[in-house]
Amino acid sequence: MTTLKKGFLSVVIPFLNEAEVLPIFYKKLSDSLKDISGESEMIFVDDGSSDGSARWVADKAREDKNIKLIKLSRNFGHQIAITAGMDYAHGDAVVIIDADLQDPPEVIPLLVEKWNEGFEVVYAVREQRAGETWLKKAFAALFYQIFRRLVDFEVPINAGDFRLLDRKAVEALKNVRERHRFMRGLTSWVGFSHCAVSYKREPRKAGTTKYPVWKSFILAWDAITSFSSSPLMWVTGLGIIIACLGVLEAISIVINKLRNPEGMVSGWVTVMVSVLILGGIQLISLGIIGQYIGRIFDEAKKRPLYFVSETIGFDKPDPV
Ligand code: UDP
Ligand code: MG
Repeated sequence: MTTLKKGFLSVVIPFLNEAEVLPIFYKKLSDSLKDISGESEMIFVDDGSSDGSARWVADKAREDKNIKLIKLSRNFGHQIAITAGMDYAHGDAVVIIDADLQDPPEVIPLLVEKWNEGFEVVYAVREQRAGETWLKKAFAALFYQIFRRLVDFEVPINAGDFRLLDRKAVEALKNVRERHRFMRGLTSWVGFSHCAVSYKREPRKAGTTKYPVWKSFILAWDAITSFSSSPLMWVTGLGIIIACLGVLEAISIVINKLRNPEGMVSGWVTVMVSVLILGGIQLISLGIIGQYIGRIFDEAKKRPLYFVSETIGFDKPDPV
């Protein structure tokens, strides 16, 4: 039995169309919370589900007063659903966990024990990733390699969003309102004392992933561009290399012309290849610059991150 060192624990569960798995998840989560002596709340965040999962949570909330529900007005994405849950959580420690049982609720008491020891952010690090495609695993490995090199703070490898945050870290994160948010990067960026607990990541218990590889790619790109302007440096570097090659080519053409003034007629292959390669590189560079401008545009509008259509079970006023 783990005892909460102080106050109470909020567990934030973002979900999108998880009707099949929610009943089993709820059962396992309640059992794990029973292993922790102290008060707790479960904050389910419905990220625009259309399969009746929100109705299931709302019905359950009538039986179990620890259940709270935030219904977002549409699908805003996993990272924003986590943010909404953290905005509404009042616990002294907040745990973020997926609803598909890939993050085992049995690990929560271990996270709490580390928090009791005084750590302010406790990551759950995946020792093994069962049930994920090799493409997703390879992509994740490559992403963490690149991301860790780009940022000047420590980012744990193989830690997802499953983690415990002390109230201090939650308050710090609540001040970060950027739109393209990569929560696990932000929780590292805010600092505080960190430690890791390892666990075996199970395959999803039911339903299908809401993160196909293309969505993971967008998340990775958001992560890189929201923490680093290095891609702009990369294209500048590429531009310099190509410009140097161009100068060398120009010198060789002049030398050839001087040596053999009559013999230089053909050469369209070289021209075509140079034009195509240069055109491609210019488009890629423009695209990367455009991505940063698009992000400036998104942030400049200062729109709220999400809208809530309904809340159930909260007695304290909504966060501003
Ligand atoms: N999720 C969400 N909004 C989304 C996509 C996913 O709230 O737009 C939830 C989903 O229901 C799950 C968690 O985020 O509880 C992680 O998603 P998923 O398991 O599909 O991702 P994976 O584990 O496959 O990367
Ligand atoms: Mg999952």
